[in-house]
Amino acid sequence: MNTSLSNISIEKAKVSKIDQVDFDNLAFGSVYTDHMLVCDYKNGSWDAPKIVPYQPITLDPSSKIFHYGQSIFEGMKAYKDSNDEAWMFRPLDNLKRLNISANRMCIPELPEEYFIDGLKALLQLEKDWIPKTAGSSLYIRPFIFASGNGFHASPADEYKFIIACAPSGAYFSGKVSVLIEETYSRSANGGVGYAKTGGNYAGQFYPTQLAVEKGYNQVIWTDDNTHEYIEEAGAMNIFIRINDTLITGPTSDRILDGITRKSLIQIAEDEGLEVAVRKITVTEVIKAAENGSLKEMFGAGTAAVISPIASFGYKGTDYDLPTMEDSYAVKLKKLITDIQYNRGEDKYGWRFKV
Ligand SMILES: *Cc1c(COP(=O)(O)O)cnc(C)c1O
Repeated sequence: MNTSLSNISIEKAKVSKIDQVDFDNLAFGSVYTDHMLVCDYKNGSWDAPKIVPYQPITLDPSSKIFHYGQSIFEGMKAYKDSNDEAWMFRPLDNLKRLNISANRMCIPELPEEYFIDGLKALLQLEKDWIPKTAGSSLYIRPFIFASGNGFHASPADEYKFIIACAPSGAYFSGKVSVLIEETYSRSANGGVGYAKTGGNYAGQFYPTQLAVEKGYNQVIWTDDNTHEYIEEAGAMNIFIRINDTLITGPTSDRILDGITRKSLIQIAEDEGLEVAVRKITVTEVIKAAENGSLKEMFGAGTAAVISPIASFGYKGTDYDLPTMEDSYAVKLKKLITDIQYNRGEDKYGWRFKV
């Protein structure tokens, strides 16, 4: 089936909300644009996508999303350059991952043109909503959920695909202190940790709340079996610099295949930094912290890009990380955002014109 922009119907909002938005003081993901893209799956296929005014959705109380949690999502951004041109970053990789998540959750796959043409049509309409202040962007949330009805515990027969957008400010997290998790798990072998599905995040809230009560901002997830291997930082992939080697764990059933993660690996290698994609234990990190070879730790993901970790706690002891003159986090963040905001050369072809 082939969709082109010409058959995405557009119902425009009667009044724009854009004048009510303070673009100089944007929080993250809390105000929404005038329109959204909606596409329904029923009778075994996806209907043509429509763009409609941003609005609430009505669902039957028996909708399977409420009971069995069949839901998946993506997180992306649109960036504006100094010439007011709009760009995205590797959007096809988000579609690929959405469909990997879809397969795991028994949700029907979404055809590429629905996603890409739908995004383009929506973003062309919402172009004025892409903020221009430094570090800001339009956060884009594509998601699919089970809208079909029935208390029977089985996959739904109807789904909704929606794209909503939120102009968002720079994601300053400040000095992040994290707790290495010894009890709870984010994901398990054979589980759904590699899928961007709602329940993974619901399951993280409680252990994270316990860590916050102890004075930390986030949890560092370890493997469910031994709690000895470092896996992810909150809802971000994690990078650890020991001496001059940048280490990150290999992706697996349990670790989400982040687009920021794989882009940073490539950029770092091309910058001549030593990168090791291998398992790393808590013991190795503690030893490195004690002998001074632990230089940096940071989370990597679309929302914050890179979120440096200032200290971490483990078994009742806190360890501080040094402040580095030649910070890899600072260097890599500049290189990746220069590509995203069209400030620098993109030798990879990652930038995508809207
Ligand atoms: C989304 C996400 C990431 C980061 O993925 P990006 O593609 O870089 O945004 C990492 N870990 C988890 C658990 C995530 O949900």
